Amino acid sequence: KYHEQLVELKGNIRVLCRVKPVLKEDQHEEGQAVVVTTDPNNESALTVLSKGKAKNFELDKVFHPQATQEEVFQEIEPLITSCIDGYHVCIFAYGQTGSGKTYTMEGTVENPGINQRALKHLFNEIEERKDMWTYTVSVSSVEIYNEVLRDLLTKDGEKLDIKINPDGTGQLHVPGLRVMEVKSFQHIKKILAIARKNRITFGTQMNQHSSRSHALLTVTVLGTDLASGAKTTGKLNLVDLAGSERVWKSGAEGERLKEAQNINRSLLALGDVIQALKAHQTHIPFRNSRLTYLLQDSLGKGNKTAMVVQVSSLESNVGETLCSLKFAQRVC
Ligand code: ADP
Ligand code: MG
Repeated sequence: KYHEQLVELKGNIRVLCRVKPVLKEDQHEEGQAVVVTTDPNNESALTVLSKGKAKNFELDKVFHPQATQEEVFQEIEPLITSCIDGYHVCIFAYGQTGSGKTYTMEGTVENPGINQRALKHLFNEIEERKDMWTYTVSVSSVEIYNEVLRDLLTKDGEKLDIKINPDGTGQLHVPGLRVMEVKSFQHIKKILAIARKNRITFGTQMNQHSSRSHALLTVTVLGTDLASGAKTTGKLNLVDLAGSERVWKSGAEGERLKEAQNINRSLLALGDVIQALKAHQTHIPFRNSRLTYLLQDSLGKGNKTAMVVQVSSLESNVGETLCSLKFAQRVC
């Protein structure tokens, strides 16, 4: 309840920052000085040392490098609960390649991330409410690469289109998208494994594919009040965004440049949409990318969003770190 009030107070978009710990494998790099510091007395402050100057950033919450997956999830949990209550929720991981986006969303076998924890919480909560409510949970998963949508729950990674329903409701639909009903947490773990495997398979067809694509897991929760028959429709979108690094600066040409522009386009479009929503603008530019187009029924009024901005603390990454934090401030 306390958390719920906090979420309301701070608006419907929360921007969190997670600082990646310095791992052994990162240490061989040149310029390995640590330039990002968190403040033990202020959990929303972050300082970056760049060219001898300290730059201070203020976010809704900053996770220090030693923060656990559990601690990160605790901040997200109230959003998962509101999804069962019928809200549409988006959780994004943003940051340069290697900054820990997939670690935060998917995690590892020993240390599962937000996706698994969210679904576990969801099924626990549904179990607790079973005397009053009954729920149907279904999932779909897509990847967006170079503005092309593919189904991650089918082996051949079928290409998909986004359509507006012709029935006049203006609702989006994706013809042919595989939607699977899920009965239990164990069942969802199997489905997540399929999506992960397919993403890796598609990835081997293209160099660096996974760092240049967005992976979306969408969970729909239909609730029925057993006494009154009242219905709720909650939606949870868990998004591992493409790496935000500025590829074009490194002399990309041809396909790689096109790819970079597309990634950049959808990340920019996402920033524009969130900024427009924050400013309560009447026109929200959802149509500027597949990503925002697909998520338009979950971003915006009455919905809830959390953005986890991942940063490296190493000097060699300071340029990208500053860019990511600027993005965070823009949507904050
Ligand atoms: P991204 O998805 O942003 O490219 P990854 O999540 O793949 O980055 O992270 C890169 C590497 O760093 C992976 O091996 C991952 O397991 C590890 N890593 C990232 N964040 C953490 C963390 N908080 N604790 C331990 N290892 C981490
Ligand atoms: Mg990744």
